[in-house]
Amino acid sequence: MDRIRQRIAELNQEVITLRRDFHMHPELGFKEHRTAQVIETYLQNIGLETERKSETGVIGLLVGPRPGPVLMLRADMDALPVTEESELPYKSKNNGVSHACGHDAHMAMLLVAAKVLSECREKLTGTIKFVFQPDEEVAGASRMIKDGVLENPKVDAAMGLHIWSLIPSGRVSISSGVVMGGMDVFKMRIKGKGGHTGYPHEAIDPVIAAANIIQSVQAVQTREIDAQKPTVIMFGKLAAGEKSNIIPEEVYLEGTIRFLHDVKPDDPDSPTNRFIRICESVCQAFQCTCRIEIERENIPLVNDEKMTSFAKTVAKEVFGSPDVIDPGRYIASEDFSEYSSRVPGVFTFLGCADKSKKSDMPLHNPRFNIDEDVLVKGVELHVRGALAFLKGQ
Ligand SMILES: [Zn+2]
Ligand SMILES: [Zn+2]
Repeated sequence: MDRIRQRIAELNQEVITLRRDFHMHPELGFKEHRTAQVIETYLQNIGLETERKSETGVIGLLVGPRPGPVLMLRADMDALPVTEESELPYKSKNNGVSHACGHDAHMAMLLVAAKVLSECREKLTGTIKFVFQPDEEVAGASRMIKDGVLENPKVDAAMGLHIWSLIPSGRVSISSGVVMGGMDVFKMRIKGKGGHTGYPHEAIDPVIAAANIIQSVQAVQTREIDAQKPTVIMFGKLAAGEKSNIIPEEVYLEGTIRFLHDVKPDDPDSPTNRFIRICESVCQAFQCTCRIEIERENIPLVNDEKMTSFAKTVAKEVFGSPDVIDPGRYIASEDFSEYSSRVPGVFTFLGCADKSKKSDMPLHNPRFNIDEDVLVKGVELHVRGALAFLKGQ
């Protein structure tokens, strides 16, 4: 075993302990106060300079003895409003909140990677910026960028990883191009004219307009956009009416538009702009009016080609074989996309599914748990990634 792997193996218990501690004390986006404190203390104890960003975000800087590029390694910090269903001794102590997206593992792996890298400081030509980012589940990256996370020192490239239960333990998924979806959230009010259900001709029924909209917008993905460019439009909330014999004035609809292809928001042919066109036309056909609000939550995550082949080389070294690397694209969203749209970036999916360890539940599920044996692999991906990047320039 080489020295780096041996050192990481020695820290196996430490990465597990850190992960379980975060797991027991999950905090929602921008409320990661305890989490931030733990991270800050750990980084300071290993001799790193730290800085707070966007209230609960933490940055640690590891400056090598020779000047060179700045590599950002990123972990997210927030938990989800999901009540954990588990008999584990380290089950969430914060009722109604849990680390059902594995961000506890991300923080633990990056902290231990920071420790190992700080021990190899003399080898570094350049700087490593360890970024612990709040509120990934909404769009914390945008706030961190606004607050200057990519500046001072200016970041040249970014790497991140996500623990992934869609892939078996011992495998990773790395692809170039669009690897995670963009997502726009819509909120829509369809206005008609309320009345008596016995006299619909005296009223304007917004319910029939809403029903037609739900059907018609499905044509965006099945008739208007190339089937090779996955697009999913879903309605998550419908609200209307008070009583069976009253035609309501208004219907309220909420949902998401996801797309696994590169889309410019101002392109009239974007899924969202097509969606708006159909909604407005259907409303007009039924004599209703509608007000549509769009929140552009995430842009698609695009992996840079050069960084991707670099990450594959690193993964090959960590896992000892190129056969463990799968191509993978997932329509869920990740705000790492904000970094990789500004600097060359790569996002790796680290498999953690093992049926015998019950770590094959979907992300965001109340029973989601990880295979802790893959944590050391995640640490090694960070460590070797950083060492190779700061040497290879
Ligand atoms: Zn998530
Ligand atoms: Zn996540």
